[in-house]
Amino acid sequence: MQSYSFASRVSGMQSSVIREILKVTEQPEVISFAGGLPAPELFPLPAMRLAAKAALGGEDGSILQYSTTEGYPPLREWIAGYLNRMDIPAAPDQILVTSGSQQGLDLLAKLFIDPGDAVLVGNPTYLGALQVFNSYQARAVPVPSDAYGMDPAALAQALRRYRPKLAYLMPTFQNPTGTTLGLERRIELVKVLAEADVPFLEDSPYRELRYSGTAMPPLSSLAGDAPHAFLGTFSKTVAPGLRLGWIATEPSLLAKLVLAKQGADLHTGTLVQRALYRYLADSDVSSHLGRLRREYGRRRDAMVGALRRHFPAGVEWTEPEGGMFLWVTLPEGANSTELLPRAIEQRVAYVPGSPFFALPGGENCMRLNFSNTSPERIEEGIERLAQVLRG
Ligand code: PMP
Repeated sequence: MQSYSFASRVSGMQSSVIREILKVTEQPEVISFAGGLPAPELFPLPAMRLAAKAALGGEDGSILQYSTTEGYPPLREWIAGYLNRMDIPAAPDQILVTSGSQQGLDLLAKLFIDPGDAVLVGNPTYLGALQVFNSYQARAVPVPSDAYGMDPAALAQALRRYRPKLAYLMPTFQNPTGTTLGLERRIELVKVLAEADVPFLEDSPYRELRYSGTAMPPLSSLAGDAPHAFLGTFSKTVAPGLRLGWIATEPSLLAKLVLAKQGADLHTGTLVQRALYRYLADSDVSSHLGRLRREYGRRRDAMVGALRRHFPAGVEWTEPEGGMFLWVTLPEGANSTELLPRAIEQRVAYVPGSPFFALPGGENCMRLNFSNTSPERIEEGIERLAQVLRG
């Protein structure tokens, strides 16, 4: 083993608990509620095959050439049109195509965070965002959240107290809890952020996956001149292996993001951008989304039903209107990390709660994914998990 003298920021990089668990759960006999994976049988494979073929059919070779950092212009136009339909007034030149929204988070953190800077996050929040903020040596400060999401009064207090560089919010089908902010909270949170003049990052990968209830306006549609960036992705609506996402923001921040991305990877793959654009332009995207919503909605219902049937008294869970996860709270004193090896013995897996918290907490919680398992296997897996909980 070599001993390297790494930069001090490396000490903030921890291996993701989820990646470690995923290694175990690749065994087919394990029913895994651990990953955040979409259902591969629902990928639009035939249409994507045609799209890739059509994209590669051009004669001039430019599909295999270097291209602009900002992204493929027709794809940026498509994204702007999509955002405009939900009242986010972004022009195509306000879109930066990224290698997944994960890269968007990384680029934004790279631009804003000096070691020790505070970033406000939900409590709990997306583990992958905590990983990014930690790698830039940020101080991730959790803002108290309840069953309806982040609390505006607590946000106002944290903004005054910590003077953060950024606030990171997931208003719709939050990862990990599945919680969605109501309209009044959205308006209040944006008002509080605008008054403090702290840029907010609206991360919204699950927005299109709504199975019940009514759509809420994105925070970015309510923001006016308040500084913000919207992070989007095709990972949950088309396929995550494409690694295609975007940041939409105002021109001066976008220009800095372009510089940051140049240093990271010059640009996102030309072939994959053009193939995705052909897919979006040539196929019936809304019926594909309809199919995803129907099937994932069935899986959500299967999980909620199984929890009601099998889980012991004293255990609580969220019943989200969309997304891919629900969040289970075991009685006080239970420890989901300690339970995990027993669950894996019973051939069922989940992600323990504590990695989703910026500070110690959530030991009695767990995140369950329902998108990657058939309703029948969900029933079986929840029964197995219920047995583990009964001890
Ligand atoms: N943000 C959130 C909240 C997520 O759950 C994920 C993926 N699980 C990402 C960002 C990153 O997604 P991607 O890079 O595939 O767009």
